[in-house]
Amino acid sequence: MKVLEERILKDGVVLGKDVLKVDNFLNHQIDPVLMQEMGNEFARYFAGKGITKILTVETSGIAPSVFAGLALGVPVIFARKHKSLTLTDNLYTSKVYSFTKNTTNDITISRNFITSTDNVLLIDDFLANGQAAKGLVDICEQAQASIAGIGIVIEKSFQPGRGDLEKLGFDIFSLARIRAFENGVVKFIEEEENK
Ligand code: 5GP
Repeated sequence: MKVLEERILKDGVVLGKDVLKVDNFLNHQIDPVLMQEMGNEFARYFAGKGITKILTVETSGIAPSVFAGLALGVPVIFARKHKSLTLTDNLYTSKVYSFTKNTTNDITISRNFITSTDNVLLIDDFLANGQAAKGLVDICEQAQASIAGIGIVIEKSFQPGRGDLEKLGFDIFSLARIRAFENGVVKFIEEEENK
């Protein structure tokens, strides 16, 4: 997605060898116009696939998911990473290792919101090693729901997440695919190879 790639080049900051900071428009301050365009792009790709729910993880997956949900006309559920006073029982839980924080956390959703009749689109802000996405897959499996596909805002294609999830048979659609960081500069996979 050209507009996203341009924004990453303008505002993204490469940290170390494999982390991209995009808190100017996605992870802290949010650009609603860009979020809406991204939501529409997810909806265009996944339209016609019979999606009934979108499932993401708090916090940064929520904004693009809400716009995708708006465009597809389906509800959005976000898995919680933190304990909630009101979300205490009747839960699906999965363990997720966080790439950026180097910690393992439970992610949790209420059993009320995903059932075996659902066909779920998973969305997240980044795809690195695929741990967050696998946690969401695990939750859908516990609920015996089908998974329509995985939508990612920024994929770091030099990390193993896509490969691992493709081996499991998932359709992954990423709005921006990063081939490498070269001397702190983001290099994308060219559009023609980026289907
Ligand atoms: P994974 O679970 O695929 O290893 O990593 C995805 C999760 O880690 C995302 O939910 C995101 O929060 C975080 N993450 C992974 N890589 C990056 C990165 O380069 N920048 C930022 N801001 N978050 C990342």
